[in-house]
Amino acid sequence: MAEIKQFDIAIIGAGIAGASLAVALSGNGLSVALIEAQSPAKGTLPTSCRLQNFDSRVSALTPRSRALLEQLGAWQSIADYRCCAYHHMTVWDADGTGEIEFDCGEVELPELGHIVENRAIIHALLARVDAAPDISLLQPVALRTCTRLNSSRVLLELEDGGALEADLLVAADGALSRVRTMMAFESREWDYGHHAIVATVEVACSHENTAWQRFLPTGPLALLPLPSEDGRHYCSIVWSLQEHLVDDLLALGDQLFCAALERAIEGRLGPVIDTTARSAFPLRQRHAVDYVQPGIALVADAAHTIHPLAGQGINLGLQDIAVLAEEILAGHARGVSPGQLELLRRYQRRRKGDNLLMMTAMDSFKRLFEQQSLPLRWLRNTGLRVVGQIQPLKQQLLRHAMGLE
Ligand SMILES: Cc1cc2nc3c(=O)[nH]c(=O)nc-3n(C[C@H](O)[C@H](O)[C@H](O)COP(=O)(O)OP(=O)(O)OC[C@H]3O[C@@H](n4cnc5c(N)ncnc54)[C@H](O)[C@@H]3O)c2cc1C
Repeated sequence: MAEIKQFDIAIIGAGIAGASLAVALSGNGLSVALIEAQSPAKGTLPTSCRLQNFDSRVSALTPRSRALLEQLGAWQSIADYRCCAYHHMTVWDADGTGEIEFDCGEVELPELGHIVENRAIIHALLARVDAAPDISLLQPVALRTCTRLNSSRVLLELEDGGALEADLLVAADGALSRVRTMMAFESREWDYGHHAIVATVEVACSHENTAWQRFLPTGPLALLPLPSEDGRHYCSIVWSLQEHLVDDLLALGDQLFCAALERAIEGRLGPVIDTTARSAFPLRQRHAVDYVQPGIALVADAAHTIHPLAGQGINLGLQDIAVLAEEILAGHARGVSPGQLELLRRYQRRRKGDNLLMMTAMDSFKRLFEQQSLPLRWLRNTGLRVVGQIQPLKQQLLRHAMGLE
């Protein structure tokens, strides 16, 4: 076997979670390997706001996530590139009179959050990784196997024949985490029976810096505002649908798809003028029973995946990163190995309950809005109206969704 490189921490996956963790740990006397299977993106990011130039994967980042990215030195380049602040959120029910509006004024903030293209977040974080002498980015190369050694270190073998050892292996390798499977972490999972169709669309009217969400009996549909240019308005869509309806919608030509979308959103943004190609993702809820073992930690989607209806996935993931980095650095200052189980358990204790709460809330929302029985429809419409009228309750819901408490 080739020389085994030695690190304090090895992170699998340089998505938003893995790259954030590497940057958060950097500059503290720890050596970090960041291993990513995909090839690096080529060239610079497209700057003009044309339909085809937007990444179809976007994230609605809460103020808390933005603050973390600021702390990591990544936010400024995201803001300099492009993102869209949203000040307002309108949520309504397809077949009733239930409607609720949220405004940033209610929580005395300049915005509720920002819609950011995922590739812009990763690009900004990887620029920080490149500038950090204590992070070794190994890309493109996939993890092949991992083994816990008697020395309590973890041995990693890579697909290119390379090998490395670390005190702590962090799985930031996404929803289908290989590390989670290889190290036999148990997880509870169930199919939502939904797929999410994502695309970028051009709409005739201004989106008014509002995140629009309509709950249809077939699943929720969100239109998230993107930067406008030259009087042209763009939104990113996340249309969650029951599985059997997805293929028909994907098979529609652009014009018919735009017409179907316009009907589904009740024409609130005027005619839907154009769309990019659509892609679909199966949606599954998954929650690891344990996030940690000696020398191993799962973070973000590797530990939990959640329905995108409230755009919370990576926001929860970034909070995992903030807490894990805090525990590792506090331990390091006391001379404790980052792989120590007690240290890792503190991370798990601080994050698991919060993640579970959000996952349960999203699941309940989805179920409630799918119900067609009259009493439940009445309950949800009345519920939306009542919540809308009780200002303290509304503020509390909003503050929680924004990661402010
Ligand atoms: C349709 C949709 C809309 C969403 N909208 C939002 C939103 O508005 N707001 C929000 O907060 N969240 C949203 N989410 C969730 C969010 O996208 C995820 O939570 C987030 O992308 C997870 O990031 P991650 O870094 O954990 O994993 P990933 O983004 O999956 O990254 C994992 C990385 O690991 C690499 N990798 C995998 N296996 C290996 C291996 N064996 N070796 C080396 N590298 C490997 C992969 O190449 C990848 O780069 C949405 C999700 C979906 C499906």
